[in-house]
Amino acid sequence: MSDPVFDIAVIGAGPAGLSAAKKAAQGGLTVIVLEEHAKVGEPVHCGECLSAFATKRMGLELPEEVVALHVKGIRVVFPDNSSIIFREEGYDLEKHLFEQYLAVLAQGAGAQLHTSSRVVGMKRENGVWTLSTLGGEVRARAVIDASGFQSVASEFTGLNTEKTKTVMGAQYYMEDVPNDGYIEFYLLPRLAPEGDLWIIPKKGGRANVGLVTAESANAQKYLKQFVKEKGLEGKKIIKPFGGAIPASGPLRKTYGDGLILAGDAAGFTSPMFEGGTQLALKSGELAALTIVRALGKNPRPMTPDINDMASMTDEKKEAAIGEPADPLCADGLSEYEHAWREEFPPYVKLLAGKHEMYALGEQGLSKLAHILPPDVTGMGAQKKALIALKALAAFGPGKVMKIKSALDTFAYSTGEMYGW
Ligand SMILES: Cc1cc2nc3c(=O)[nH]c(=O)nc-3n(C[C@H](O)[C@H](O)[C@H](O)COP(=O)(O)OP(=O)(O)OC[C@H]3O[C@@H](n4cnc5c(N)ncnc54)[C@H](O)[C@@H]3O)c2cc1C
Repeated sequence: MSDPVFDIAVIGAGPAGLSAAKKAAQGGLTVIVLEEHAKVGEPVHCGECLSAFATKRMGLELPEEVVALHVKGIRVVFPDNSSIIFREEGYDLEKHLFEQYLAVLAQGAGAQLHTSSRVVGMKRENGVWTLSTLGGEVRARAVIDASGFQSVASEFTGLNTEKTKTVMGAQYYMEDVPNDGYIEFYLLPRLAPEGDLWIIPKKGGRANVGLVTAESANAQKYLKQFVKEKGLEGKKIIKPFGGAIPASGPLRKTYGDGLILAGDAAGFTSPMFEGGTQLALKSGELAALTIVRALGKNPRPMTPDINDMASMTDEKKEAAIGEPADPLCADGLSEYEHAWREEFPPYVKLLAGKHEMYALGEQGLSKLAHILPPDVTGMGAQKKALIALKALAAFGPGKVMKIKSALDTFAYSTGEMYGW
């Protein structure tokens, strides 16, 4: 008997891949997830925070062991040490346990998971993909690439020739770091040019202390200096870790024939603080739903008869089976892009706002802090109008639109807006 043809092969068992696998399996499709590492979730390469808005939106009820701390919200600290808070509850996760929990949900829905299965190549013939892994070949009608920032399917198929721009995240997992239940983000260009720094607390004084910066080569130097300035020098570093984060917005093509990119592989990260887990979870789900719907038009695996028709024109095939020849052709999957564009924030606009924010420099950022109220939770029209007036007075009419653009990006950093 020949190997089975799965409906979907998912590359990568991160948040995007596991969310996709669960949704597709729930939709009645046969799914295999191929993960290069021996254990799901390990090694961790994340600051590990996730808003309660995200878990609610995804219908996830987190088991207590995956939660490293229930957090009250976010404090943003500016160069002159002034700060604002945003009260929005969420979690610092034990991310490896969170991903293992997602794997249990995906497998519970019927997906197969193969670890130690690095995908090293893929090709599509007659509507069926063959994926080469170090352990053998896997065949599937559709592929969801959820391989993270490396976006391996783009490389194997040439779907996107332009690589996504990434920024380097570096962090220490530390002990004995005081916290008051807020995640702290620092806008401090001197130590994180075109980026930010963070202290993300966990129970028992543990915390992820890190940064993201476009100056990858200096990331470690800046992190050491930040630790020193926060008075944490000499505290135990349990481990240093980090990784690359997509920072130029969605890739030009997020779908192709029989292929969808989700999560970091599609370039979905929040423009301001580069959180990507919520976007990964949601885009995985949207990718799966797109394929479930496309195959709904032709739910049975292709039969040899249909494969034999490979030499016919599309019109002849359609006439023969009364359906589009390939329900998974790029046109058939284009609804994915409509779905994420409708669901996610307007990235191009927000990336522009982020650059306006960076362009302010240390002095401008501190000035910005002073036009904002100390608590920016749930601001109504009146408070926003007051901020606009203060921006006009502080920065002058020539800069007011740039400040608005920067503040819009900032406003999209909430969990509700897929910021974390
Ligand atoms: C330092 C740092 C801090 C961060 N902090 C936060 C944060 O606090 N909150 C937040 O929301 N986001 C944060 N992010 C971003 C977040 O980690 C990602 O956006 C999120 O994990 C994306 O999920 P994903 O499933 O798309 O990709 P990933 O989590 O990267 O998962 C991809 C999976 O694919 C596997 N894989 C890769 N190539 C192959 C292959 N060829 N074959 C098989 N498997 C393969 C990988 O092993 C991995 O398991 C941070 C990122 C970094 C680097």
